[in-house]
Amino acid sequence: MRRVLLLGGTGDALQIARQLEARDVYSLAGLGRVPEGLACEVRVGGFGGVEGLARFIDSERITLVIDATHPYAAQMSANAAAACHEAGVPCWALRRAGWTSQSGDDWRMVDGWDGLIDAIRPFKRVLFTSGREPLAHLDEIPVHQYWIVRCLDAHPGNERARIIDARGPFDIDGERALFALNHIDVLVTKNSGGAATQAKLDVARELNVPVVMMQRPTLPDVDREFDSPAQLLRALNEEDWSGVK
Ligand code: NAP
Repeated sequence: MRRVLLLGGTGDALQIARQLEARDVYSLAGLGRVPEGLACEVRVGGFGGVEGLARFIDSERITLVIDATHPYAAQMSANAAAACHEAGVPCWALRRAGWTSQSGDDWRMVDGWDGLIDAIRPFKRVLFTSGREPLAHLDEIPVHQYWIVRCLDAHPGNERARIIDARGPFDIDGERALFALNHIDVLVTKNSGGAATQAKLDVARELNVPVVMMQRPTLPDVDREFDSPAQLLRALNEEDWSGVK
């Protein structure tokens, strides 16, 4: 019998989770909202590294792991591939395509916090949309800068930083207002891909605002890769599970 372990934490993963059955398991790290009303089992929290995940796969008789974590959740993706190898079950992954730059874009690629800080140095009003990492650096904001950090955290900020606790999707009118009200002169983002958070890039292009883009991490090889939930769900339905105990 098929029993899927879906590793999630993204809107795409939730789309897949909605189609899973009672015997399947949807796993979340525990940072965001836990969805309700799913037919499948939902579990929350880490497994304890590769060993813990391999043990879970074995003891829960998981027959397929689907890694639908965010493209920047590289640790979990690496753990999933290694644990599947150890436990002898296939690993599929949803690997959403990144955004690509268009005419009029001014993208500056960086691959770590130090590079990012160098890249934003010439600017004054920085909009971070790259997760919680800036919150650990609020005491280091250069005197000429003001940071607006949009992330899933109700942090109070400080005299040089405002935190916006908001969850996408974000539309173009809202993004235009955010840039205008805060006089944004540089945008910091991950290359997440997908439509839900793309409007900020359209606004940056309209306003000639440079974009400091964090490079995607390298992800492990897996048995099968898909670029959309629909494509993955089709494969899941078409697969012959009759030989699986
Ligand atoms: P990460 O660095 O790759 O993972 C850190 C640890 O969190 C993992 O080693 C694992 O702990 C636990 N973990 C992560 N995803 C899990 C899941 N789906 N189920 C159970 N445990 C999980 O991950 P991250 O970048 O901190 O992201 C955490 C979660 O937020 C991910 O599930 C991701 O899909 C989601 N998310 C991340 C981003 C982003 O930009 N990174 C954006 C949106 C959503 P153990 O080693 O103990 O198993």
